Amino acid sequence: MGMTFCAKEVMMARVPEWTKGEFITLISKPELSDEDLIKLLPKRSKDAVWIVRAGVHSFHTGGNISMLSEMMMNLLGSKTTLVECPICKIAF
Ligand SMILES: [Zn+2]
Repeated sequence: MGMTFCAKEVMMARVPEWTKGEFITLISKPELSDEDLIKLLPKRSKDAVWIVRAGVHSFHTGGNISMLSEMMMNLLGSKTTLVECPICKIAF
């Protein structure tokens, strides 16, 4: 069973406006807190970062990935290097 996201799950909408560069920044900095990551992603809110990070976690745990854009899913699915999950720190 995956994690329960409670009320925040209601807010999860697809975020297709993220650029590939922004998403690569997000998945390459799993060690940063949401607060520190938004300093590198000035156009994104803390909630937006959290939602995409939750989507990365859902991607490798088989959960709800309806918030991920096609670009994000393609990138996670076709990666050539391991991605470290920002939530559970497991590499996949
Ligand atoms: Zn995870």
